[in-house]
Amino acid sequence: MVKNLSFSYSKMGMYKECPQKYKFRYIHMIPELPKYYFAFGSALHSVMEFIYNPQRQFFPTLAEALAYFDGEWNKTTWEQKGYASVDKELAGYAEGRHEIEAYYAKHAATFARPLSVEMRSTLEIDGLSLISILDRLDYLGDGLVKILDYKTGKTVQREPDQLYMYQKVAETSPVIKALVQQQDPNVKEIRVGQLAFYHLPSLTEMTFERAPDSEILDFWQNKVLATASRIRAGEFSPTPSENACRWCDYRNICPVFTGREYSGPAGAAALPLLKGQPVSMAGTNQSASEVPVKKQVTAPEKSAQEILSEKIDRYGQLTQETDKLRSEIIELMRSQHFTRHFGTQYQAEVSQKEQTVFEDKEKVLALLKKYNLLAKTLVPTQSTIAALLNDPSVPDAVKKQLAALAHHRVQDILSLEKSE
Ligand code: SF4
Repeated sequence: MVKNLSFSYSKMGMYKECPQKYKFRYIHMIPELPKYYFAFGSALHSVMEFIYNPQRQFFPTLAEALAYFDGEWNKTTWEQKGYASVDKELAGYAEGRHEIEAYYAKHAATFARPLSVEMRSTLEIDGLSLISILDRLDYLGDGLVKILDYKTGKTVQREPDQLYMYQKVAETSPVIKALVQQQDPNVKEIRVGQLAFYHLPSLTEMTFERAPDSEILDFWQNKVLATASRIRAGEFSPTPSENACRWCDYRNICPVFTGREYSGPAGAAALPLLKGQPVSMAGTNQSASEVPVKKQVTAPEKSAQEILSEKIDRYGQLTQETDKLRSEIIELMRSQHFTRHFGTQYQAEVSQKEQTVFEDKEKVLALLKKYNLLAKTLVPTQSTIAALLNDPSVPDAVKKQLAALAHHRVQDILSLEKSE
């Protein structure tokens, strides 16, 4: 008996984006690199699941939801989440808390119990094992359900394929039917009454009407089943495009860029290759010298994203030059014992400021997490952490540990003014 093909909306999306990418991910089983926006979205989805858990007798308070978020957030390090630095992770943490607080301010008074949350189901249908996760399912009465999907990215737009997939799942799933019938035993058929995307950063809901059956049938046959049959036939030719390749984790091993088929290790063993690092080739049919080398490709015309990237780099270089210049001016003024000096157009003044600095951010963060002090700082910056040393509500023993991580530094301040 032929095994059903494991399929989902996200797998279909990846195949549509580039079949070769799908092959790397689901045939070679090479995971993608962690992405901070997935980690952020996953923590917020967990909080929503916690809030609306139909098994709970009462909805959690804001403090309980925030504590739950902290627990979810602290399960992984900033690197595991895919953030570029501890600072960026802290900004994500603060943003997550802010979104939960705003959500409570807007919705806590009207929280209503859903039919289910984070419903993971696998439908065996037309030779597919169709996996889906419905963030929230509400019952509207008369056999009608509302499917709500949380979005946590910067923007949100209508994604017809996702809506079609949800509708197909909701109207076919025996589990959803059974859930509805527990509430309403006379219901014979489940229909989608409403589909909605809820954008957490802006607290806005986009609602969509149910699609006609003919559209769902067309989607199912010409998109889902057609994609599945191409996958079964082993059609994985790459479809490179500027947008897809720019952000693709598999560039370093992709035939489009290396000029040869990938025959390296499968699974997580290939992860170093994605980062451009060498891997042990034991157990593969590829020698270390065959590790793909980037092929010369003709530079495409600059896109808006490339222009933006160049400007960001230029800005970074100018900032570096400015910092260097500032240090040189301060050093010269100190050596000449000047506190003020004049150029032809500007005048500069040097002063000093004492600062408490925490250099080992990871240790400080671990300490704040251990004693549940992260929330107290709102956004843990050098100054908000230093303020904890004078906060009467922080136990002395904790202050002592925090103080041991602090350094006191005198900082030179250079102020510049345009001469009159
Ligand atoms: S680099 Fe481009 S062509 Fe290669 S797998 Fe990724 S998206 Fe496809």
